[in-house]
Amino acid sequence: MNQKKKVLVVEDEVKIAEVVVAYLQNSGYETVTAYDGLTALHLFEKECPDLIILDLMLPGCTGEEVCKKIRKNSRVPILMLTAKIEEDDKVDGLNMGADDYVTKPFSTRELIARVGSLMRRSDEGIAPLFQKMSWNHSELELDLQAHEVKRDGRTVNLTPNEYKLFCTLVKYPQKTFTREELIEVALGMDYDGFERTIDSHIKNLRSKIESDSANPQYILTVRGVGYKFGEVD
Ligand code: CA
Repeated sequence: MNQKKKVLVVEDEVKIAEVVVAYLQNSGYETVTAYDGLTALHLFEKECPDLIILDLMLPGCTGEEVCKKIRKNSRVPILMLTAKIEEDDKVDGLNMGADDYVTKPFSTRELIARVGSLMRRSDEGIAPLFQKMSWNHSELELDLQAHEVKRDGRTVNLTPNEYKLFCTLVKYPQKTFTREELIEVALGMDYDGFERTIDSHIKNLRSKIESDSANPQYILTVRGVGYKFGEVD
């Protein structure tokens, strides 16, 4: 059983938001909706969406600001909705960190197709941005396309669950995950391990990627809560 993918829809025009949400739900996605930029940022932190549909023209905090703030912390796919049709604006949208854009008025069918395509690219690790990430002067590297993690230039053999946990933590480096969230987000709802199983996965992950797993630099413990990824560089 696959966990439903979650889409955060950010759109201040209620009718458009409702139509988009209805189509996404019909297509098997779970949705959360924000009608302004600040709520969008709050829901992004709280809900860990798999993809964000982001309207450019929002009251208060604009879609551009939302996109830039999210991109500081996350590689989640962002599909921009824009009413502007000039080529320069499209390019700007991509430069500010969006992965794709749809110009209003758009066909809902096309929007859903783009969402599906971005989800697949993200699943396969071939989202157009951030295919390769590295930290601390390439001490630690992640190549999403090759599904490969390297430490000091040497490939680290991670189990599929360790790799999923690592990618989840890296995707939201400012976020502290509880053990329960890591089970849900990284391993899927049907994972039948206990929460403490996460601790042993984390322990193994640390022994493979940290120089001193007793004093981790990357996979940090947040006491009484869970774990987070520490941005070293
Ligand atoms: Ca708008």
